[in-house]
Amino acid sequence: MKTIEDLDVAGKRVFVRADLNVPLSDGRITDDGRIRAVAPTIAKLVERGARVVVASHLGRPKGAPDPQFSLAPVAGRLGEILGKPVAFATDTVGDSATATVAALGDGEVALLENLRFNAGETSKDDAERGAFADQLATLADLYVGDGFGAVHRKHASVFDLPQRLPHAAGDLIATEVGVLKKLTDEVARPYVVVLGGAKVSDKLGVIDNLLKKADRILIGGGMAYTFLAAKGHEVGISLLQEDQKGRCLEYLAEAEKRGVEFVLPVDVLVSKDFPDLKTKAPADFGTVAADAIPADQEGLDIGPKTRELFAAKLADAGTVFWNGPMGVFEHPDYANGTKAVAQALLDSPGFTVVGGGDSAAAVRILGFDENAFGHISTGGGASLEYLEGKTLPGLAALEG
Ligand code: ADP
Ligand code: MG
Repeated sequence: MKTIEDLDVAGKRVFVRADLNVPLSDGRITDDGRIRAVAPTIAKLVERGARVVVASHLGRPKGAPDPQFSLAPVAGRLGEILGKPVAFATDTVGDSATATVAALGDGEVALLENLRFNAGETSKDDAERGAFADQLATLADLYVGDGFGAVHRKHASVFDLPQRLPHAAGDLIATEVGVLKKLTDEVARPYVVVLGGAKVSDKLGVIDNLLKKADRILIGGGMAYTFLAAKGHEVGISLLQEDQKGRCLEYLAEAEKRGVEFVLPVDVLVSKDFPDLKTKAPADFGTVAADAIPADQEGLDIGPKTRELFAAKLADAGTVFWNGPMGVFEHPDYANGTKAVAQALLDSPGFTVVGGGDSAAAVRILGFDENAFGHISTGGGASLEYLEGKTLPGLAALEG
């Protein structure tokens, strides 16, 4: 894979596909980790006299402009971090983008509006995606892929555009891939994987491959309830992927066969209502055994016994990969499970990797020092698919 150093960027329009998909609350950026992660690549291009055209997706708009997913707040924050103005185009390939890019001088930076405001970006139809990539290609001379969080997506800006322009990997992607290589090639044991979060079906797939590699797999967060239900327990109104129960049972059987320790929560915090993040949690929340969730309640975090159990399973780890919060950490009453796992990673002697947009944000929002971890990855789905052994379209396109 070529790096930025291999490109002659001075005076050229360089398209940087970044992942600036940051969490927003009322239009305010609650964690700017992904912006800070790609800033050094942009700064390097600026220093070398490139005209930098930055593009990203944000959230999941439906292929048309939707103001709640505008990247405008990100342009401001990126400018603060770079210490120079960032021009913002109010569209992606329209008049505003064309004019904004044309106005760039050497060493100047522009950010385009959300790539996913265009149906072609995520289209499954090669021709439709290709047509959008053709439009994007008119805005640049060179392509730098640095949106690690999106490299597992076969999207126009990730997969098709680099095939149309001379390209290289940015520094963030180079670092991320280096760390993941370490987790697949030369892993120190015991290798403990902690999975949680809300994107259950996305993440179940990784277990298949991890069963061949990990020594222990700990399951918390929204994922846990499908496993508990598969084992025949009542899970009330907890997050549940009914159609994946069979798969969960297969994983449990396979783990047993291979001697992989598979650890599920033994207790959980439950409530009748999903917490309103702006107010206090419902007064009636409490702790129950994982096999005794009341039918009208929802599991929202791992309980105190599980916190201790997971910490014990992490205490001697040689390597840890953690993706997915243990509970609805956005609310302080359901953040203790996530906090306990973060602390256990810091206490473990091993090489610790935290992957996933929300997991990385959680670590910082809960007040941990991000530098104390071995590596905080900007990509959840991307790092999981890498660990699954899949070919990632965005990396394959940069290889070519
Ligand atoms: P990541 O971005 O780190 O890959 P996900 O996007 O899969 O993680 O999941 C993060 C979300 O999971 C958080 O917003 C958190 O509130 C939610 N979550 C965690 N545990 C639960 C649970 N028990 N029920 C519902 N949502 C949960
Ligand atoms: Mg997420």
